[in-house]
Amino acid sequence: MKYLIPGLRKFSQDVYPQQKKLFNELSKGQSPHTLLITCSDSRIDPNLVTQTDPGEIFVIRNAGNIIPPFGSSMGGEEATIEYAIEVLGVKHIVVCGHSKCGAMAAIAQNTDLTALPSVKRWLGHAEATKRRCQHFEGEGHLDKTIEENVLVQVENLKTHPAVSAALRAGTVDIFGWIYHFETGGISVYDPKKNEFVSSETIAEKSENGFKEFAIS
Ligand code: ZN
Repeated sequence: MKYLIPGLRKFSQDVYPQQKKLFNELSKGQSPHTLLITCSDSRIDPNLVTQTDPGEIFVIRNAGNIIPPFGSSMGGEEATIEYAIEVLGVKHIVVCGHSKCGAMAAIAQNTDLTALPSVKRWLGHAEATKRRCQHFEGEGHLDKTIEENVLVQVENLKTHPAVSAALRAGTVDIFGWIYHFETGGISVYDPKKNEFVSSETIAEKSENGFKEFAIS
């Protein structure tokens, strides 16, 4: 705890007073614009990476940024997705994988997970990822697995009734991202090209709020 307590003190004494107006506003309620689904990896900081404030992003995190298909898991993902859409009315859902993902490395390398039965069961929700990538070899295998998993999880996401209905009504957009913590860059899935492209390139070109990168 010696690593956390001084930070808590610094936050309450220095940081919080500087943002008191924001926190006062947030005490009335939250209205996040985005549901971000990403990995639990400690190297990812959603607010830092997206330069957003508290109150802007509703977050689901787990090993491998996995979204079990509707009805297949008793985890909290299903309820959290439903709440984000039906109650909070998020406008965007981002599934964000990341470079050097340990969970995806286990899938790419077909690691024996007998000693980690819960992890093994959980990664079963990425079985489609494993099968789609098994023909890849060499260094690019892990990167390809990370990318493919984002797309598999987007498909899983669409099996959730709240997501399906919101997509149909045009009230929500889904995006696929990969965060590269070694460079600070983000790759965004481009449905037209069927590949991930650098966010820096698209930031200059996008004219309609990145809607062309929404996965339908
Ligand atoms: Zn990860």
